[in-house]
Amino acid sequence: MKVYFDHSATTPVHPEVVKAMKPYLSHKFGNASSLHSFGQEAKIALDKSRQTVAKFFNCQPEEVIFTSGATESNNIALRGLMQNVETGEIITTEFEHPAVLETCQYLEKFGFKVKYLKPSKEGLITVEQVEEAINDKTVLVSIMYANNEIGTIQPIPEIGAKLQKINRVRQMRNSSRIYLHTDATQAIAYCQIDIDELGVDLLSFSGHKIYGPKGVGGLIVREGTPLSAIIYGGHQENNLRVGTYNVPGIVGLAKAIELLSKKADKQREVKRLAQLRDKLAQELEKRVSDIIINGSMEHRLPGNLNVTFLFVEGEGIMLSLDDKGIAVSTGSACASSSLKASHVLLSIGVPPEQAHGSIRVSLGKDNTIKDVEYFLKVIGPIIEKLRKMSPLIQR
Ligand code: PMP
Repeated sequence: MKVYFDHSATTPVHPEVVKAMKPYLSHKFGNASSLHSFGQEAKIALDKSRQTVAKFFNCQPEEVIFTSGATESNNIALRGLMQNVETGEIITTEFEHPAVLETCQYLEKFGFKVKYLKPSKEGLITVEQVEEAINDKTVLVSIMYANNEIGTIQPIPEIGAKLQKINRVRQMRNSSRIYLHTDATQAIAYCQIDIDELGVDLLSFSGHKIYGPKGVGGLIVREGTPLSAIIYGGHQENNLRVGTYNVPGIVGLAKAIELLSKKADKQREVKRLAQLRDKLAQELEKRVSDIIINGSMEHRLPGNLNVTFLFVEGEGIMLSLDDKGIAVSTGSACASSSLKASHVLLSIGVPPEQAHGSIRVSLGKDNTIKDVEYFLKVIGPIIEKLRKMSPLIQR
């Protein structure tokens, strides 16, 4: 039996997405910047895709910038904004994706100060923490909507509302405003996503986490946000993200977003996944001793479970599960080739030796109760075997 439980790393491409992309990988191959009919055919698809994405986020089509994925979107958001100010401070968190964390470290080299907020043990940041960290020099707040390892959902609408309040006061004093960016890569399939209600200026997302293609994503840039390009050599996307349009990718991304747009389906899927995930967690706690579930169960993506199995290594569990046809991950996929303990788990206070014994299970649209039952059947004996060999157990 094959079970894919690694949807936070990437998702299978939806058959309807493949179907929508196909013509643009074959006979509809024009360059959307060309003025002849081949180009115009591609341009029409590009414009339509932009409208679909804009409708989903409730923004204007001109506010949608297509990129190569969330890594690039995060880079454009942070570097593109900060290169417009001479000095200033950024507020972010310790458990952001490396695409934000390492971009912040890069900006620090240019003299920008970055404050890294520490999440609670539950994996949550509060509005009060953000408010306390703000001072006259703050230019940008960048906080992820949902964490990619522990799935915890941050109070972005509340942070957005607080910043809007602070900005109104700043405007009366004629001082510059604070911009809010959120990396919504893991959240957009499941969370509230109306850009006005979120109150953000910049929002990053990616195709391959939502049953779309890899290598394509986007950045929503609210009108008036002072952003400039980080790469040069063309005119596309209002000069903000230059280079020939990835028309098949963009068409696929828009199709994936269109499939997410049905509110009733989204609510049903959130409920279904949460039920499967909760069943997995409850049964796991009954059947396997010495486990810890990391992060809040209340404010969490519906398909995510992050579990520490004491006295064993996550890599051992992952490989043993793989032998049984089950795909999970240790830490995030991006970090799992390194043997460093997950910075996310360390940030919420999990000791390094426990962080090493953790796996992430992330469920998606094709998973059923049969997959959960199969996982539960094989995990007990795997942990038992690994613990028998473990030098970490005191006997
Ligand atoms: N941010 C988050 C929260 C992610 O989970 C990921 C993917 N691991 C990224 C950014 C990077 O996205 P992409 O693969 O589209 O560059």
